[in-house]
Amino acid sequence: MRNINLIVIHCSATREDKEYTPEQLNRDHWERGFDCAGYHYYIRKNGKVVHFRPVQSMGAHAKGYNERSIGVCYEGGLDVKGKPADTRTPEQRMMLEKILKELLLRFPNCDICGHRDLSKDKNRDGVISPDEWMKVCPCFDAKNEYRPLVVANQMYLAKLNKQRSKKWRERDFI
Ligand SMILES: [Zn+2]
Repeated sequence: MRNINLIVIHCSATREDKEYTPEQLNRDHWERGFDCAGYHYYIRKNGKVVHFRPVQSMGAHAKGYNERSIGVCYEGGLDVKGKPADTRTPEQRMMLEKILKELLLRFPNCDICGHRDLSKDKNRDGVISPDEWMKVCPCFDAKNEYRPLVVANQMYLAKLNKQRSKKWRERDFI
């Protein structure tokens, strides 16, 4: 089983007024030399989810990070003029959060970031600033937006562990 500790969020970099079907996405990735779409999850504009790969299989979505990460992509990321924008629909936001919460419970050591946060820190100040982004994907600040989810999950698990170890201690006396 591979060791998963990162969830990377992507956008399909397609216009919000256009449909980008899973079939088309699959075909585009196929043409780039992947077995199938490189993401594990693809969230359509209506909130429907397509599972391209089981999470235990390695994805092909973030160079240098595929081995230890899960790739989640939402349909969109460009406005009607083709400019990068946070085009997530309410359905996509809801589904994205649901998937992230489920994945965090399954893989508690996971951090969440956007594709652009994996760019090189050229001036080595510890922050990946906009001028360092290799691309703008996923067109919103995923790292900051989902930080509370990561923190809440860690707190929940710490509490659970504490309760568990307390139970074990109590059992020792019987
Ligand atoms: Zn991306």
